[in-house]
Amino acid sequence: MKYIMECLHKKREPVLGFEVDLFTFEDALQYVHNHLKENKGLHIVTINPEMIALGNKNDDFGRVLNEADLVIPDGVGVKLALKIKGVNQENIPGIEFSKKLIGICELEGFTIGLLGAKEEVVQKAAQNLRNEHKNLNITYIRNGYFDEAQEEIICQEVKAVSPKVLFVALGAPKQEFLIAKLKQQMPNTVFIGVGGSFDVWSGNVKRAPEIYQKMGLEWLYRTIKEPSRFKRIFPALPMFLIQVIIETVHENLVK
Ligand code: UDP
Repeated sequence: MKYIMECLHKKREPVLGFEVDLFTFEDALQYVHNHLKENKGLHIVTINPEMIALGNKNDDFGRVLNEADLVIPDGVGVKLALKIKGVNQENIPGIEFSKKLIGICELEGFTIGLLGAKEEVVQKAAQNLRNEHKNLNITYIRNGYFDEAQEEIICQEVKAVSPKVLFVALGAPKQEFLIAKLKQQMPNTVFIGVGGSFDVWSGNVKRAPEIYQKMGLEWLYRTIKEPSRFKRIFPALPMFLIQVIIETVHENLVK
């Protein structure tokens, strides 16, 4: 097993100061599976350009990103950035990765927890997952709307239940901050921040049609459906790519 872990471990490439793991989808999944079998914890981050931009503005968030154990590129932005740097890396959509992880948990009898989204959303997502994965053992379900005092209670609850994998759907950076806190108390748990995935699993939000997914344009579809996202994504993505080009030119000049 150690040998497999070492073989899979792990090339990384920095993108604007944050290391991204260069795994195929399957190898990343295998890597997590191996950790689960060895009862080792992980903080998995599914990183995108908005998170990298925020990590460069907010030192606390930057630190959390740098301390994550597995950073997989979610979306076309980071894939393109790596391409600019001469690295071919497949896109690993966090929502698909998480779904495969749930399949592994069902198969292996690993317990899971769902933390985040609105109450009716997380309940419906749990129900749909149970319908789809008959042997899945969901031992913790909690919505993602709470104040600081409630957060403490939630941390204690999660610790008491100790699911083997905790899916946290609070959006970035909230989910990463909470995971960083929980990880200190629960070193044997696998944590993954999954953004809006519960909304999709509940059936409340549809994923983009396959053609958008295949072309890496899921963000475009979400922006069309939810124009308020435009402000969030539009200046960020081209700025991000321009910064990556500048960084790459600089790296090549000083080599
Ligand atoms: N959310 C939450 N608590 C909060 C803020 C957000 O549980 O205080 C949930 C929200 O209901 C949604 C998810 O976090 O299900 C964030 O979704 P979004 O699409 O913003 O995340 P992204 O996928 O863009 O990171």
